[in-house]
Amino acid sequence: MPNEFTIIKTKVNKAKPDPNNLNFGTVFTDHMFLMNYSKDKGWHDGRVVPYGPICLDPAASVFHYGQEMFEGMKAYRSADGKTLLFRPGMNDKRAISSCERMCIPPLPEGLLTEAVKVLVKTDRDWIPDKEGTSLYIRPYIIATEPFLGVRDSYEYLFIIILSPVGPYYKGGLVPTRIYVEDKYVRSVPGGTGFVKAGGNYAVGLRSEYEARQSGYSQVLWLDGTERKYVEEIGTSNAFFVIDGEVITSPLTGSILPGITRDSVLCLLREWGNKVSEKKLSIQQVYDAYVQGKLEEVFASGTAAVISPVGELCWQDKKMLINGGNIGTISQKLYDELTAIQLGKKEDRFGWVEML
Ligand SMILES: *Cc1c(COP(=O)(O)O)cnc(C)c1O
Repeated sequence: MPNEFTIIKTKVNKAKPDPNNLNFGTVFTDHMFLMNYSKDKGWHDGRVVPYGPICLDPAASVFHYGQEMFEGMKAYRSADGKTLLFRPGMNDKRAISSCERMCIPPLPEGLLTEAVKVLVKTDRDWIPDKEGTSLYIRPYIIATEPFLGVRDSYEYLFIIILSPVGPYYKGGLVPTRIYVEDKYVRSVPGGTGFVKAGGNYAVGLRSEYEARQSGYSQVLWLDGTERKYVEEIGTSNAFFVIDGEVITSPLTGSILPGITRDSVLCLLREWGNKVSEKKLSIQQVYDAYVQGKLEEVFASGTAAVISPVGELCWQDKKMLINGGNIGTISQKLYDELTAIQLGKKEDRFGWVEML
């Protein structure tokens, strides 16, 4: 069922940004993808159009009750000029499960991937090729029915926008300072923590704001029930290396099943590292630190790939990790993942798709 998408090209191409000075998510390309849903037609009218404002009724239910979901992925330019996507099928499947949880009619399997490919092809000249740069892809669905009742909307808009981005951390892999959040929670079992739904990020803002005021760049979230077990770092998955064992939270429904997380686990297992997906309490992390066994902490996600943690602050206790330096495993994972994504290294897992 190849979808026929209409393509309407812009008449005025925008100036491209300086590839040496790219921020995260501030500049957008010439085109965007739109597709509508209505009860009688289902998903229909997929189209690439010039990038620009969209017109919505002020009563559109997304503005009132936040019925929406999003995805995040990247396109890369290889040294020989090819356009590469990293595991797009995983985003496609995750979007479907997010839609189901948010009571949004799911996109047919494969549609998100196809739409991403058509849009990225149209704007392929926007993929920067400088070291560490890429084209960030943001697919999302919003509830558009003008209706103030609280129920699932009967109308939706699926949108994809593209943004050329620089390396997440400008100075390279610089270890971050992380505050362990023990007051606020982001998700609980049975909630929406496993979904990329806007509301999850809105509830995290207060905590991240307060952490920033105290000089930390992100928070480490503890589980929402006991506030005891480590779950995620900001909007990334969290990994702890204790006495040679790499530990990350299991997928219990309150954390996001990251595609980078899955890729990290595959690589570590291939390399023969000891890897465990198990509950780990912040007390155990601290005890390991005191015993000199907390070797590395890092976060994984599409935006930054691997982000090493240099310091953890838990209540009045400060843990300086690996002397505040990047750990060996963090650096090796970053190098390997970025090399595969850019087509510099053999794609032995079948992760990379060429356009
Ligand atoms: C997006 C996200 C991640 C990372 O997922 P990737 O697929 O690796 O980008 C982790 N945690 C949260 C809360 C996220 O939103």
